[in-house]
Amino acid sequence: MATFSGGYDNDFVDQPPKSLECSICLLTLRDPMVISCCGSHFCEPCIGRINTNRKPCPLCNSPDFTTFLHKGVAREVNALRVYCPKKAQGCDWQGELGQMDHHLNPTANYRVCGFVMVDCKYKCGGSFERRVIDSHETDDCAKRPIEVQVAFLARRLEMLATENREIRTKFEAEIISLKAENTSLKQEIEARPLPPVPPFYFTILNYEQSKKDNCLITSPPFYSHLKGYKMRLQTFPNGDRTGQNTHLSLFVLIMRGEFDDTLQWPFTGRVTIDMYSENLKQWTPITVVDFKDSPVDRKCDRLTNGSWGYPQFLPQDQVAAEYMLKDGTYSHVRLRVNYVELY
Ligand SMILES: [Zn+2]
Ligand SMILES: [Zn+2]
Ligand SMILES: [Zn+2]
Ligand SMILES: [Zn+2]
Repeated sequence: MATFSGGYDNDFVDQPPKSLECSICLLTLRDPMVISCCGSHFCEPCIGRINTNRKPCPLCNSPDFTTFLHKGVAREVNALRVYCPKKAQGCDWQGELGQMDHHLNPTANYRVCGFVMVDCKYKCGGSFERRVIDSHETDDCAKRPIEVQVAFLARRLEMLATENREIRTKFEAEIISLKAENTSLKQEIEARPLPPVPPFYFTILNYEQSKKDNCLITSPPFYSHLKGYKMRLQTFPNGDRTGQNTHLSLFVLIMRGEFDDTLQWPFTGRVTIDMYSENLKQWTPITVVDFKDSPVDRKCDRLTNGSWGYPQFLPQDQVAAEYMLKDGTYSHVRLRVNYVELY
């Protein structure tokens, strides 16, 4: 900072030359004076103090001397480049030393250094960096005149109205898109076919050929009831295990379904199986697959696709005699899951 007891100790862009240094305070010459005895240069305040105290020249000790301002040296000093003293606060100004007072003048109309402290013009007692004084005076100051407050409130209202409009527009757009999404979800749900539930019909197509080929024939999935257990039939026309070559085997396989979360496990329902008698031309109950009878190690828990049923569901000769529909070279056997009872 400038000090009025001696030379300049400003933050110079380049180190000033030795020739511009005061021989008393060793700072850069302020109002450089030249002395008549030995021609040395001093700051005006520095040599002024020697004069007042009637002391000899501090360099050559001569008791008699006169001093005068050296305008050429003064111009050289004023042309030295300095940084703004508010550089640490953020001002990036640099310029000639001679222009710095102008840059820092707190009362100037032209607003130069933004970091100089300026008193509030409404005399509230506060002082603020010049770069924020405007917003203090128009937005914050408790002493601002009523018309300034009114103008400020009008601006805030306008701002809030704009903000409000923007938010409204945004929400309206969101609501429209949510409504559209909702409609399309609804349509999707309505378009989804209901899962089949008993009575569920299933035909073993080409029964005799499947028997010859030892095929496993499975039905499409169905549900025990609406939102119930998902399951399917597994049939072996030529028999499985103890029914091999002698019986039609039939099992009910419990699958993973979309309503499993809401159901009780393990599954313990009774699945009633009918077959269509070609002789009697009517549906006849054959058996019930009761999952309560399944052994502990074959229980159908939520995550196991367990099955339960009969390897000896129906003797093959009985199937051929009663339940087989001959259709040219083909033969079909028709099954029905009549209902599923839950315990
Ligand atoms: Zn001298
Ligand atoms: Zn000096
Ligand atoms: Zn500045
Ligand atoms: Zn104020």
